[in-house]
Amino acid sequence: MSDEENRINAENRAKCICRPCPTYNECMRADDERLFCVTGKSPACTFDKKGCLCPSCPVRSILNLSKAYYCIRGSEQEQK
Ligand code: SF4
Ligand code: SF4
Repeated sequence: MSDEENRINAENRAKCICRPCPTYNECMRADDERLFCVTGKSPACTFDKKGCLCPSCPVRSILNLSKAYYCIRGSEQEQK
């Protein structure tokens, strides 16, 4: 990944609203997992779907995303 991509990912990661999501759990919190829409689903955590805040996330419009539940289903690219 280029420096520019790393910079953009860091910016979007800061804007990610996964942490207050009802589906976000202690397992994901332990590793501060975020930005699943770019990095893919949570590698080790399992959880129940309790709603997804992605449709109201600012990163969604920045990256022109259309899916949801990235933490479970994988990145936008993986869901295409
Ligand atoms: S779209 Fe979802 S996974 Fe992607 S940054 Fe926003 S809240 Fe996080
Ligand atoms: S990807 Fe969606 S469902 Fe998963 S934690 Fe983020 S906002 Fe919640």
